[in-house]
Amino acid sequence: MLEAIEKLLALQDRDQKLRTLRLEIHSVPTEIASKQKLITDSATRLETARSRAKTIEVEKKSLQIDTAAKRDQIAKYKNQQLQTRKNEEYTALAHEIANAEKLISQIEDKELLFMEEAENLAPELAAADKTHGEEKTRLEAQITLLREKENNLIIRVQEFEASRASACEGIDEELLERYVRLFETKNARAVVALEHDVCTGCHMKITAQTSLALRSDKTIVSCPQCGRLLHLPA
Ligand SMILES: [Zn+2]
Repeated sequence: MLEAIEKLLALQDRDQKLRTLRLEIHSVPTEIASKQKLITDSATRLETARSRAKTIEVEKKSLQIDTAAKRDQIAKYKNQQLQTRKNEEYTALAHEIANAEKLISQIEDKELLFMEEAENLAPELAAADKTHGEEKTRLEAQITLLREKENNLIIRVQEFEASRASACEGIDEELLERYVRLFETKNARAVVALEHDVCTGCHMKITAQTSLALRSDKTIVSCPQCGRLLHLPA
């Protein structure tokens, strides 16, 4: 194998590892964001349940105030009934009392519905509270690990980058440029093996002449189909 191809293969191996590391780093913020969204979602669910419980309390109190007011009014009407001597007025007051009692009964029905809802909501709220607490702890621990992983990956990338220059040493500049271009455009595979006269980059058969040129081991040979640099399997 030509020394230049050997060096490019070693470089490609490093560059592929570097690329994988960069892709991994790239995926970390998305992973963190999705975990943060889970925390926010569970906090929102808890907040919604809490806010509903508060609303129910407020509504119940307001209904109780309404009931008390109606009862006061009924007491006043009854008092007025005792004082009046007019039949008409007595009947009118009795009518008002009946109306107020009907309203109280309607208010009490509403209150009952709120009480039922509050009873059902209480265990739901407790469960949401517990789940949120546990989920938050679990997810935050995962986020911490992801940040740690990200830092480690960044350090490894920096190490790879720092030592890349020495891996490029002794490779002809023009060839190196060609390699870089191929690496970027051919899915990180610039130098590929020829197996049974088939390019393992594009899976096309090459001509006997190209195969012979590669076997002579005198010059750099590239695949006529995809342009990748070829080498014979070790
Ligand atoms: Zn090819």
